[in-house]
Amino acid sequence: MDRRSKIIIVGGGIGGLTTAIALRQRGFSNLTIYERRSEIQSKGAGFVIWANASWVLHKLGILNEVESFGGRLNQMQRWAMDGDYLGGIDIVTIDERIGFPSYAVGKAEFQNMLRKKVNELGIKFQNNIAVSFMKDNGNDKAFLQLADNSTIEADIIIGADGRMNSISKSYIQSDNLPIYQNYINWVGMLESKNPLPIENNILDYWGCGERFGIVPIHTNKVYWAGCKALPLNSSNTEPTDQLELLQIFQHWSPLIKTVIEQTQGTHIKRIPVFDHNPNPVWFRNNVCLLGDSAHASLPTSGQGACQAIEDAWHLANQLAHFGTLKESFEAYQNIRFEKTTAITLSGRDFAKSLFSTDIDYCLERNRSAKFTDYQKTTNNMIALWSRDLN
Ligand SMILES: Cc1cc2nc3c(=O)[nH]c(=O)nc-3n(C[C@H](O)[C@H](O)[C@H](O)COP(=O)(O)OP(=O)(O)OC[C@H]3O[C@@H](n4cnc5c(N)ncnc54)[C@H](O)[C@@H]3O)c2cc1C
Repeated sequence: MDRRSKIIIVGGGIGGLTTAIALRQRGFSNLTIYERRSEIQSKGAGFVIWANASWVLHKLGILNEVESFGGRLNQMQRWAMDGDYLGGIDIVTIDERIGFPSYAVGKAEFQNMLRKKVNELGIKFQNNIAVSFMKDNGNDKAFLQLADNSTIEADIIIGADGRMNSISKSYIQSDNLPIYQNYINWVGMLESKNPLPIENNILDYWGCGERFGIVPIHTNKVYWAGCKALPLNSSNTEPTDQLELLQIFQHWSPLIKTVIEQTQGTHIKRIPVFDHNPNPVWFRNNVCLLGDSAHASLPTSGQGACQAIEDAWHLANQLAHFGTLKESFEAYQNIRFEKTTAITLSGRDFAKSLFSTDIDYCLERNRSAKFTDYQKTTNNMIALWSRDLN
């Protein structure tokens, strides 16, 4: 593609920002990001940049920035709510085999770092600009209409506008209905005055229809997620989210109680969890999907943000190498669809098991978790996550 093509990225989240950086590094000069929000949201609190995403960030020359605020991890440990140890996945092995370290990060810190990089590269970032819709201009291209009714055309439009109400997904697939997956996530970030009794291990506690995960960034800083199977639109049973969580998890590990109690109430968010059915149509005319708008997976996949980062790398490479726009989009979709679909479906399977409310099933699930061949599980994760990194 012509490096002077006018490229608009709709959405300044992790996917949109990383794509802008990757495109600039491939020599594309005319890039603008439109972001509807005025400031970065910390929805999701934190996430793990797994070794596969670190691979991309290294290639983009920004992994060293992550080292300054990210925390290294050793193991992902699984525990039953009664304190029975169910086994662990060795993150050191994942990192060694993929060749880069995984880091736990605050989502806002990571996005701020990307924003800084976007500024340094001179990429136009316009916040407070919401795209209202996309329409055909009658000439095999879409144009954008903004909330102020102005219209904009571009050679290429990248739809990185998330999972809940993607205008780009509506334009391409005529359907952007996210699917509620029957559980609520409460996410929080805790910066404690005193070190917490937590090594560099992810602690994943399993109940029946309930789960609590704690991810250390540093000894004084963790992000966490408490989850419970609940119908959509269920209301809180306690006056605050914090009290509701203390009530749900009152008989679990004392560490969970400490983490909930010490987190400021305003740093706890209640998020009903949605994903999308995989859909193999990622582009139409000059518009192409990226990140959650293309393949929103559940938090149980652990890979949502990492896959948006991988998309950025592959889309930028294809736009840089191929002749026509259609060929580039097709090649990108062909590389990405199977991997992201496998990740979305594995996230659903895991959620179905974790949020089952059948007590006999949960007991059997925990029993078999103890006898799981975790080396094999680790190998399978490495095989999927490292796919197509070249
Ligand atoms: C509760 C929860 C927990 C999660 N936990 C993890 C985890 O542990 N690990 C992990 O890897 N992933 C996790 N994820 C997923 C991860 O957050 C997403 O996969 C990732 O943020 C995708 O990035 P994105 O850029 O595609 O979308 P987003 O981060 O959603 O960014 C989309 C951006 O587009 C903007 N936008 C939307 N519409 C418009 C419009 N019309 N005009 C202009 N701008 C627009 C939005 O404001 C937003 O900034 C979690 C998600 C949820 C909901």
